Amino acid sequence: MQTKSGWAPARGVQVLGAERVGGRWLISVVGRQEAGSCPACGERSTLRHGWYIQHLQDLPVQGAVMTVKLRMSRWRCRNAECERLTFAEPLPDIAAPHAHRTRRTAELVELFGHGVGGRPGERLMKRLGMPASDDTILRQLKRQVAARSAKTAIRVAGIDDWSWRKGCGYGTIVVNLERREVVDVLPNRSAAGTANWLSKHPEVEIVSRDRCGLYAQGAREGASHARQVADRFHLLQNLRETIETQLTRADRSTGRALLPTSDGEDESGAAIACSPRGQREVAEHRHLARQAQRLSRQTIFDRIRALHDARVTACDIARKTGFGRRSITKWLRLIAPCGATRRRAKAMLAGRLPGLSVASLGGRLRPWPRSVPRDQTPRLHRQFLPPGAAPGEVARRQRQCAASGAQIAKDRRAVLAAMTEPWSNGQTEGQITKLKLVKRQMYGRAKLDLLQARLIGAA
Ligand SMILES: [Zn+2]
Repeated sequence: MQTKSGWAPARGVQVLGAERVGGRWLISVVGRQEAGSCPACGERSTLRHGWYIQHLQDLPVQGAVMTVKLRMSRWRCRNAECERLTFAEPLPDIAAPHAHRTRRTAELVELFGHGVGGRPGERLMKRLGMPASDDTILRQLKRQVAARSAKTAIRVAGIDDWSWRKGCGYGTIVVNLERREVVDVLPNRSAAGTANWLSKHPEVEIVSRDRCGLYAQGAREGASHARQVADRFHLLQNLRETIETQLTRADRSTGRALLPTSDGEDESGAAIACSPRGQREVAEHRHLARQAQRLSRQTIFDRIRALHDARVTACDIARKTGFGRRSITKWLRLIAPCGATRRRAKAMLAGRLPGLSVASLGGRLRPWPRSVPRDQTPRLHRQFLPPGAAPGEVARRQRQCAASGAQIAKDRRAVLAAMTEPWSNGQTEGQITKLKLVKRQMYGRAKLDLLQARLIGAA
């Protein structure tokens, strides 16, 4: 046996030697303290009662497993009134009481647990010379998470829902938006559950949530002092969809043509005529390609309709044509093939709203809700109404617009906060993507405690 003083796992201990035993390294270490303080009464004692030996798994050496054989003193308490007769020398730097591995190894076990979970973690750790069972990894993970979540303080909370299975059963995720980490995962999605969680965290000052009324109500009940911020992304998405619907010539939900279809072709023809000579051929090619695409879409649409008229089911049509069943069902609801209306609407939107930004949209948005209760046509609506739309269609679209405006007006303070506050639920959405990944890695077998352990405090 040869002394290697540089191998000490922490200060306060002396390495006696290192030896190779059956493919493993065994480091013998002894405590150097000459006295200890009783944890019960605090009395200092130099009266050694004996020794105790503890085996701890440590970081591997040359890829081989390393075990630290630790010989520590056991002291006798001198205080006659103390309930403890003897006490062990504590080693806060090396390992937790009754631990089987050193602190630095336990940290790695936790990191592997967070990163890859139980069984993959077990395989990786064995290969790296730190064998630990999947149960050990998960137990360590859950223990650390319980200790961490008890002392977490949160000022800005992002709240959103996630699904156990698509469309059935939802849970709630709470993210600390300042530290960009998951704080809690709740098993359900309800106003009461959210209010209950927030009431246990009175330090929350700002709640960023989606436009679902449940979380708004939960925040009002559980943290009435907190400022609510509507999610900017969903706000803009709803607004964009409303504007797009106003701009499209065929309503996406019904496929009703609002303007003659030849109008687009005329525009393309005019564009070709106006193009410079060099670009003329390119423009003509694009026009022909678009025409061919439209024709092919029409052919497919006609075929699907013919099969449907011949009482072929959507599943059989999907099998015959090679399209997805959902696409077939969607197409069967239309009376004309849905085309590039969305793209065209976007192009029109870009043309009419140059330099559209959140700030400028905020400016446009503010007068909008106020104008709705007076039943006036909102400025945005009047601006974007497609020319030549039928009078009934105008009224329908006005109602749509008014409904969107009323919804925004109802949530006005949170919507305005979304325009002025830097907080948004983008980070929460990102954490939900991670939650989904972790959930799928576990093949649907994980319960809530494990999901919490894998996500809470993960770096
Ligand atoms: Zn004592």
